Formats: sequence, structure tokens, C-alpha cells
Amino acid sequence: MACRKCKRICFDKPCPEHGDKDLSSDWYGFVVIDDMKHSSMGQVAGITKEGIYAIKVR
Ligand SMILES: [Zn+2]
Repeated sequence: MACRKCKRICFDKPCPEHGDKDLSSDWYGFVVIDDMKHSSMGQVAGITKEGIYAIKVR
């Protein structure tokens, strides 16, 4: 499941980031952001915290 707002992959409801229960099972691809300082990927996607994020959430 993936959060529609922050795209974080959530293994347990709700989203640990902001408690959102509006999760989508319709997503694909993911990126692992484990070091924000060296991750240009996270900066491009607007991600501000380490974690696993879906590339696309419908
Ligand atoms: Zn979220």
C-alpha cells in the first residue's frame, strides 16, 4: 500500500508520516531513500525523509 499524499510505502495502516488512512494499492515502482544528503532522487521527488517511496501512485 502507498500513501497518496507523500507516496511512502506503508506496510501497516495508517501512513506513519501523517496518519493518513487513504492508501492506494494501485502503485508501481519504488525508490529507497536512505540518505537524503546524497540522494538527488529524493530532492527531485520532493521527499524530505528517509524511507521507501512509490514512483507512481494512482
Ligand atoms: Zn503519507
